[in-house]
Amino acid sequence: MANQSSKKRDAGIPENEADLLLKKHLLDDIRKRAEAMQRKSGAELSVMSSTEIEKLVYEFQVHQIELELQNEELKRTHDELSASRDDFARLYDFSPVAYLRLDKEDIIKKTNIAATQLLGCSKEMLINKKFGKFIHPSDQDDYYFFIHDLLMQKNTQILSAKLMIDSRPLKHFECQGFALLGCSRPLCIHSDPHTYVELRGVVNGNFQDDFQICLAIQDVTEYKRTQETISCLNEKLEKKVFEQTSALIESNLDLTGKIEELKVSRQQLREREARLNAIFNASIEGIITIDSSGIILTTNKAVEKIFGYREEELIGCSYNELLSPLQRKKQGDDLNSYLQAKVPNLIGLVREVDGMRKDGSIVPLDISIVEFSIDGANYFTGIVRDVSLRKQQEQKEKEHLEELAYVSRLCLIGEMGSGIAHEVNQPLTAIANYAQACLRFIGVENPDMDQLGEILFKIHQQALKAGQIIHRMKDFVSHRKIYRVDIDINTLIEDAAGLCTNDFKRNNIKLELDLTKNIPEVSLDEVQIEQVLINLFRNSIDALKAMPLKVQRKILIQSRLKSHNQIEVKINDNGAGIDEAHKDKILTPFFTTKPSGMGMGLSISRSIIEAHNGTLNFTCKPDEGTTFYFILPVKRAIK
Ligand code: ADP
Repeated sequence: MANQSSKKRDAGIPENEADLLLKKHLLDDIRKRAEAMQRKSGAELSVMSSTEIEKLVYEFQVHQIELELQNEELKRTHDELSASRDDFARLYDFSPVAYLRLDKEDIIKKTNIAATQLLGCSKEMLINKKFGKFIHPSDQDDYYFFIHDLLMQKNTQILSAKLMIDSRPLKHFECQGFALLGCSRPLCIHSDPHTYVELRGVVNGNFQDDFQICLAIQDVTEYKRTQETISCLNEKLEKKVFEQTSALIESNLDLTGKIEELKVSRQQLREREARLNAIFNASIEGIITIDSSGIILTTNKAVEKIFGYREEELIGCSYNELLSPLQRKKQGDDLNSYLQAKVPNLIGLVREVDGMRKDGSIVPLDISIVEFSIDGANYFTGIVRDVSLRKQQEQKEKEHLEELAYVSRLCLIGEMGSGIAHEVNQPLTAIANYAQACLRFIGVENPDMDQLGEILFKIHQQALKAGQIIHRMKDFVSHRKIYRVDIDINTLIEDAAGLCTNDFKRNNIKLELDLTKNIPEVSLDEVQIEQVLINLFRNSIDALKAMPLKVQRKILIQSRLKSHNQIEVKINDNGAGIDEAHKDKILTPFFTTKPSGMGMGLSISRSIIEAHNGTLNFTCKPDEGTTFYFILPVKRAIK
């Protein structure tokens, strides 16, 4: 028993004086009750027989044995209680939860190891110290009300607060407390009011003074920190989620706006497509789209009309199917190589090609090609126009012009009659003179045969010249097609000028030739170009006729090699020039300012030059006369 008491002291539980007093009081009470019962039983030994006495003694002895047995039972129960109390004391001391027992003045009366560790003081230092001193100033009010509620309401109270111990970091704790009577029994277990009142009176006459407070304290610093970290992280997370949500909402709005814009532009695209389709199919020009390998991808209605194929017959076929065999041969099968290597400037130009209809007939076409690319792949759109009608018209005009040219030549031949007669007359006169000379030579003795031969040779030459003049005149009058030869343009200029020599002389016109030597030959129809030159000379002669004689009338003829393999011939006179109001008209047929003019000369000349792939035009500056010029390609152009 002594050992157990010391253990209790070590555990911080002093011998309970109240328990001992209670025990003594109970024993005294039992003694008094037993004596009273004895008195009530009325057993008077003096009046009892010996048998009755023996019986009573026997009863007492049995009763004593019973009491002893009961006493042993009580003793064993007491030992068990002590053992369980020791267990409780150990559990109390080594519990991880800090326990404190305070009196009603907040003085620490009992503590366990966990509490000393929590408060950082030994048991000795803690006992008789106020627990409130360890509470952080900011939590003092809460702590006051916590203790007050414990004492007044007598039920379990909970407090969350901070500990402030010297300079150590703050500790958070959660504390659960309840009030006890001084006998260590919680108030709530006293269900019997009599016992409660009696005990109160026995242990301590003053109920108010005997309360003790039990606190179970848990260090929640780590938990709080974790909570704070979690809530901080949560805040950050929420902030981030908010930011991202805002950004998402913004981009969502943006996307919605874009989707709306896309819808509008899709609608616009559809409308545009419908409009374009309508134009595409209503176009009188055929529109064909092909890929870079020449495969037809789309065609419009006009293509069907031009070529006689339905759209589905053409899709997937090569565009070559639509060209004449000759055209196909000309441009090869591969559009790309044709476009890139052979005709680099093909894109955007209008070219004439011969197409082939489904029935095999040839159709003249104007074609222009545009190139476009989608996703890096090249495509071509060809716009095709059936020019059959135009060609027929052109042919008719050409024939008409040829007719006119013929008529014009007949007119000219009349006017040129005197000049040609003079030309022919010259060699004829020469022949007659040479023949006379020959006759004189033959008439003398021993005629000089060499000289005779020379004269005969000259006769021969003059006869040839006369023949040439007549032959040229015949050519000039004859109605024939273009017959080209390669010729030096200077020779042609000299020949034509030769035909007009008489006119120049008669009108006091000084002829100047400024011809570039070694000029490349030109492929042309001599007769026609000569006709052009004569027309231009005659116009200049006509213009100069009106000029006063005191001014030297001049005609300057020049030939030049221009860049790009072209030659240029200029006929300049110092006549009065062309009236400003007439400039637009003088190249058109039937425009003339001459009383007996036909107004066909320039128009025919221009047609002839253009038939040679050249151009004819004029310049006219005040006081500088008029310059007509034409340009011809040196080589025959590739059609
Ligand atoms: P025609 O000679 O029959 O009038 P052309 O077609 O040859 O027909 O000429 C048309 C007109 O151009 C002439 O009537 C004349 O008014 C004008 N013309 C042509 N050449 C000249 C020139 N060298 N100087 C001034 N006017 C010219």
